[in-house]
Amino acid sequence: MNKIKLLDILTGKSVWENYQTYNITQWYSKEEMQKFQLNKLKLLLQHCNENIPYYQRIITKQGIDIEKIDSLDVLKQFPILTKEIIQANYDDFIPKNQNSIRGVKLGQTGGTTGNILFKRNDANSRSSAWGSAKRAEDWMGLNLPKKTLILMGGHVKKTSLLNRLTTKALELLSNNVKVDIYDTSNKTLETAINLLKSNKFSRIRAYPQFLFSIALKLEELEISFFVDSIYTTAEPLMPEHRALFKKVFNAEVFDQYGCGEIGGLAYECEKHEGLHITEEHVIVEQNNSNELIITDLDNYTMPFIRYWNADQAIISEKNCSCGRKSQLITQIMGRTCDYITGINGQYLHWAYFWHLIFDSDIAKNRNVKKFQIVQENNDRILVRLIADTLTEDEERFLITDIQKRIGKVNISIAYEDHIENSKTGKYRPVINHMLNL
Ligand SMILES: [Zn+2]
Repeated sequence: MNKIKLLDILTGKSVWENYQTYNITQWYSKEEMQKFQLNKLKLLLQHCNENIPYYQRIITKQGIDIEKIDSLDVLKQFPILTKEIIQANYDDFIPKNQNSIRGVKLGQTGGTTGNILFKRNDANSRSSAWGSAKRAEDWMGLNLPKKTLILMGGHVKKTSLLNRLTTKALELLSNNVKVDIYDTSNKTLETAINLLKSNKFSRIRAYPQFLFSIALKLEELEISFFVDSIYTTAEPLMPEHRALFKKVFNAEVFDQYGCGEIGGLAYECEKHEGLHITEEHVIVEQNNSNELIITDLDNYTMPFIRYWNADQAIISEKNCSCGRKSQLITQIMGRTCDYITGINGQYLHWAYFWHLIFDSDIAKNRNVKKFQIVQENNDRILVRLIADTLTEDEERFLITDIQKRIGKVNISIAYEDHIENSKTGKYRPVINHMLNL
């Protein structure tokens, strides 16, 4: 029995089944895919009509007869859904049959898109998302055993010794070496460069911005490597990142895209002509500003129908030369990743602050609705929160953890009623005035 099947049995998911289905559906024509989506959409709307008050009201008001739906155009009758609407009507999004939905998990999402939202997903939606991610791993050649260097942020919360040892053992078994890029005490940049020099890695998995800083350093030192593939996650991969990675690492670069509410939803194939949208899992529309409006076809515990996620993207009408007909995202725009720069030369990016606030349970215990970290100058950082007042211990924890990583800068915490978006309407979790962004 393979590992995915075994995990499915243990966790009540159906990743393997979805993976197998999606291996077939990836070659569907546009018409076949629309039929596939329509089937799923009708089932979802049926569920919404029976169980979810927010959608029941819309379906009744619009006079939608679900049995008679014969086109995806029915979506146009649903208003755009925003985080604010969900927050204001939270109870009306809880299904009446919640107890009979398998594997419901509650999570929080904030990320780059705005207010913090309590989201839910279920075994069905996770299976679909993982099934498509597994398929993308085949596209990227990730299922071949290769030595991988992982440059990503770990959890801020302290894990047990057993947990750390297990992780280490798994890494050794899997041939992977992981460098925690939040752990700046170890001079991470040098560690990563030394690792690259001393080991023959076939693959690098990284946050693009951090790998970019390494690549810049290597370019300056006129050192280059031969790596098979680089795959990036969590932040947008910019054209300049891709170009430098090709130059310094001589590698094939793969990007992917997802959002906190829905998870991974587009992956790059071996032809590198864009990111294939997982149309089996989501229906993606765009508004006049090219912002994405997403319908998740698999999440029954919190259906997102026409959810506006505020990311701007360019979607190409062209078909990819790989033969798959799914829509291609050729560019994600408008997500600026700011950094806080430390007096010790280290820096911290938004995902670190997200982990800091969420993993420590401060978000949950103090009802954090939104946060923003502002670097005013070299040694002044302001932590802005829309939240209940933190205890002294919690405040000290935040300040100490940040100082531990970037040096003894002055950090103050401000409680706000409102945190404004940028001029373009985007929420910015980190603003660094020194970078003049
Ligand atoms: Zn393709």
